[in-house]
Amino acid sequence: MNNSYDIIVIGSGLAGMTAANILGRSGHRVLLLEQHFQFGGLAATFKRRVGIIFDISLHGFPVGMIKSCRRYWNTEIADRIVQLPKIRFDNPQFSIETTFDREDFTRLLIEHFGIAKESVIGFFDKARSLSHYDNDRQTVRELFNEFFPGRMDVVRLLMEPITYANGSTLDDPALTYGIVFSNFMSKGVYTFQGGTDVLIDLMTAELKKNNVEILKSSPVRRILVENGKVAGVVVQKDETKQPQLFRAKVVLSNANLKGTIFDLVGQEYFSDTFIKTAKTVRLNNSSTQVYLAMKSGYLIDENQCGDLLFSSTAPEFSSEKLLAPQITSRTFSFYYPKTRPGTDRCYVVSSTNAHFADWNGLSQEEYLQRKTQLIEQTLDHLEKYVPDVRKHLDWAEAATPATFKRYTGHWDGSSFGTKYEGLAVSRRLPQEIGGLFHAGSVGIIMSGWLGAVNYGVIAANDVDAFLLNQ
Ligand SMILES: Cc1cc2nc3c(=O)[nH]c(=O)nc-3n(C[C@H](O)[C@H](O)[C@H](O)COP(=O)(O)OP(=O)(O)OC[C@H]3O[C@@H](n4cnc5c(N)ncnc54)[C@H](O)[C@@H]3O)c2cc1C
Repeated sequence: MNNSYDIIVIGSGLAGMTAANILGRSGHRVLLLEQHFQFGGLAATFKRRVGIIFDISLHGFPVGMIKSCRRYWNTEIADRIVQLPKIRFDNPQFSIETTFDREDFTRLLIEHFGIAKESVIGFFDKARSLSHYDNDRQTVRELFNEFFPGRMDVVRLLMEPITYANGSTLDDPALTYGIVFSNFMSKGVYTFQGGTDVLIDLMTAELKKNNVEILKSSPVRRILVENGKVAGVVVQKDETKQPQLFRAKVVLSNANLKGTIFDLVGQEYFSDTFIKTAKTVRLNNSSTQVYLAMKSGYLIDENQCGDLLFSSTAPEFSSEKLLAPQITSRTFSFYYPKTRPGTDRCYVVSSTNAHFADWNGLSQEEYLQRKTQLIEQTLDHLEKYVPDVRKHLDWAEAATPATFKRYTGHWDGSSFGTKYEGLAVSRRLPQEIGGLFHAGSVGIIMSGWLGAVNYGVIAANDVDAFLLNQ
C-alpha cells in the first residue's frame, strides 16, 4: 500500500465506485475505502444458509442505467440489464398490471381511469419539461391538481411507486418528481440479471483493471483539513487498532452528506453560513424490509404476482400512511429463478418506507418482537398473492432503519440520503474546503441506482477539473 494518492474516495456505494472508476481510468492514483466488509453500499446482498442469497435494493431502476453503465463501466455490466415487464398495483381503488411506460400509462389513464387525452398528454409533457434550471416552485400536489383535480386514484397511480422509490411527498418540488417519473416512463422498469453480487463483482474487477486500490473493512474516522484544504484521511478499524493516515489532495466522500460534514470533517472547518444551511438539510426516510426465501424448486405464480407489486390496504394514497408503523402499503419484489439463472429458488422482498424514530431506542426484546411481528404481518398479507406461503417458506427475516444505519452509516438509516436541499450543500463543499467533494444520495434525482451512478460521474468530472487546475 502507498500512503499517498491523488484522490481518496470514502465509501463504495454506486456513486463512490463510479467516481473512483472514472478517475482511475483517467490515470489518477485512486484509493477507495469502504467501512463495511463488502463493497456496494446499499447495492448489496447477504447470504444465509447454503444457496440462499437476498438482494437489498435491486427492485427496479430506469432504462438510463444501461447507457450509464456502458459508458462509465463496461458492456458486460450494461448487457445484463433487463426489463421487468409486469408491474402490478393492488389497492382498494384499483387493481391493474402495466409495463410502466408512457404508452401503457397513457392507455390506462384514458381507458381505465377515464381521463381526457389532452390532460394525459399535457401532464406527461409538463413532467418531462421540468428542469433544474427553471425557477418553478410548483409542488407535486399542485402539479396533480393542475391536470387531475380531485382524482386521488390517479394521484395514487402516479405517486405511490415514486414515493416508494425515493420517499418523496406531495409537498416536494414538482421538478424532483417530474425528472424521476419521466426517467421511468421513458421505457419502464429494469433490473440487473444475475443479482447485485454479480454486479458488484464485475464493478470491483473493473476498478482493479483501472488501477483503483480498493480496501474494505476500512472505516474513515476523520477527513484531515490543513490550511483550508483537504490533506488526507484517518482510517481506524476499531479502538484496538492503530490509526492509519492516507494523504491525498482530493477526498471524495460517498458517505452520508451530513455525516461527511459534521462527523468526518467537523463543523469548525466550514463557514458559519454554510453550517447554518447544512443543519437545515432534512434526511430522507428509512425503510423496513422483509426477506423471504421459498423452498428450492417451489415456483411462485408469475402471472399472479408479476415482478413488482405495489400493494396497499389504505383507502387512498397518503405519504404519512406509507411511513406509519401500522403498515398499510408494501411493495413486493418477486425474484424468479430467471433473475439468477441456474438457480431454482424464488424470493420475495417486501419493502415499506419507515421513520428511524419508530425503531430507535427500543429494548432488545421489544426490537426483536417488532421484527417478528413485521414478518408475520407481511406473510399474512402475502397470502393473498402466494397462497399457503408459510408452507413453501424456507427462510424469513427482517431489516429495519437500525439495520440500514448499522451497515451504511447513513444518519437515521436514511434509504435515500437527504432531501432535495442537500444537493446544493453537497455541490458547495469544494468552495468551502479545497479538494473536498461529495457524491451520493442527495435529493431524489441524485439517489437510487441511476441517480447515484450519475452523481458519481458528475463528481468525477469536477474532481478531474480541480486536479487539472492545480
Ligand atoms: C431498502 C431499499 C431499497 C431500495 N430500492 C431501490 C431500487 O429498487 N431502485 C433504486 O434505484 N434504488 C433503490 N434504493 C436506493 C439505492 O440503493 C441507493 O440510492 C443507492 O444505492 C445509494 O448509493 P450511494 O452511492 O448514494 O451510496 P450508499 O449505497 O449509501 O453507500 C455509501 C457507502 O459509504 C460507506 N461509508 C459510509 N461512511 C463511511 C466511512 N466513514 N468510511 C468508509 N466508508 C463509509 C458505506 O458503508 C456505504 O458502502 C433502495 C434503498 C433501500 C435502502
